[in-house]
Parts: sequence; C-alpha cells; structure tokens
Amino acid sequence: MIDRLLILYELQSIDDQLDDLEELRGDLPNAVESLKEKLNTLKADIDSKEKGRKESLKKREENDEEIEKLKANQKKFKAQLYQVRNNKEYDALTKEIDHTDEQMNKLETENNTLADRSKSLADEIEEIKPQLNELKDELKAKEADLKEIIKTNEKEEVKLRDKRKEIESKTKKADYSAYMRIRKAKKGKAVATIKRSACSGCHNIVPSQRQLEIRRNNRLFFCEYCGRILVSAEVAETVDSE
Ligand SMILES: [Zn+2]
Repeated sequence: MIDRLLILYELQSIDDQLDDLEELRGDLPNAVESLKEKLNTLKADIDSKEKGRKESLKKREENDEEIEKLKANQKKFKAQLYQVRNNKEYDALTKEIDHTDEQMNKLETENNTLADRSKSLADEIEEIKPQLNELKDELKAKEADLKEIIKTNEKEEVKLRDKRKEIESKTKKADYSAYMRIRKAKKGKAVATIKRSACSGCHNIVPSQRQLEIRRNNRLFFCEYCGRILVSAEVAETVDSE
C-alpha cells in the first residue's frame, strides 16, 4: 500500500517541477499566439485591399479599351455625317453619335471613381504596412525569447516527462484519474501531506485520530476540507530525499 502512496506523491512532485518550468515561460506562449493571430488578420486585410486594387485596375483597362472602340466608332459616325442623303439618315446618325458620347462619358466617370478607389486603397495599404512590420518584429523577439527559455530547460523537461510516463504507468488507473481530477480542481496540487498537524494544501487541522490512521500508510485518505489526497510525512520524506 505504501508504494501506491509513494507513487502518488512522486507524481505530484514531478508535476510540480513541470509546472515550474511551464511558469518560467510565463505569458510568452499566449503572447506569441495572439501576435500570430493579429498578423494574420492584418495580412488578410492587406491581401483583400490589394485584390480590390487589382480588380479596379483591370476594370479600368477594360473600360479604356471600350472607350477606344467607341472613339473609333464616333470618328466613323462623324465622317458619315458628310455623306447623309436625307433627314432620316441624319437623325439616325446624330442619335448614334449622342449615344456614343453618353457611353464614353459614363465609362470615363466610372474610371475616375475607380481611380479614386484605387488611390485610397493604396493609401490604406501604406498605412497598414508599418503596423505589419512592427508586429513582425515583436513576434520575432517573443519567439526568440520563448525558444531560449525552452532550450535552457529542454533536457530537464525531457527527463521529467520520461520519468512522469514511467510513474504514470505504475499508478493505479483509479488513483490516476482521482489525482488528475483533483489536480485540475486544485490548480495543480492534488497530493498534500501533514505539516504541523495541518493539511499542507489547505492548512486546516487534521484531527489527531485521522493523523494516526494516515501514518499507517495503508489506505488512501482525502482531506475533508479541500479534498486533496493526504499522505503521511513519512511518505513525503521518502520521496523528497530520493
Ligand atoms: Zn486540505
């Protein structure tokens, strides 16, 4: 039975060390993630503005071609004016000429609007670009910091993770799930010991009869206040002195 308690206490001790390593990273992993998200949003924004600019340019080119065609037609119509034989033909031609004028005006107006749109999109892109570069630099710096921290503790972390796997495989399934459940509920600390007659997790006094029972190391006990697994000082000392 004592082995079962030793294993649980050791599991806690390894997780404590892993938690400490995690804490060294602080907010860096989150900061890196949120910077990446911001960068992607900005990039998508720039891409859509670039796309808008290209589309507007393409439409303007198409319109220019159309205007050229209309101009050529207009020239023909105007030349034909000198050759009309009657009023009916004259009216028909002037109608065509007016209509072509209208079409050309419409296309030119549209092109002016497109040019304005293009210009303001270009301005907006230029405005965003410095922000993008700033974010890129910030991300680079944070990623480098994080990498440095991870590298410094890499060996220790790998060792701890291997050890944890080994201990986990030795832990009874029911004990492990109880441990994980309490660990989650109690911010990482699932196993406590008795220090000065109190639970080391919640500092409430453990009744002396219960302390005696716990010292026998022959059963799993849970703190009646915080619900943590309570092991004897003997168990804690055995693991801590390893
Ligand atoms: Zn407690």
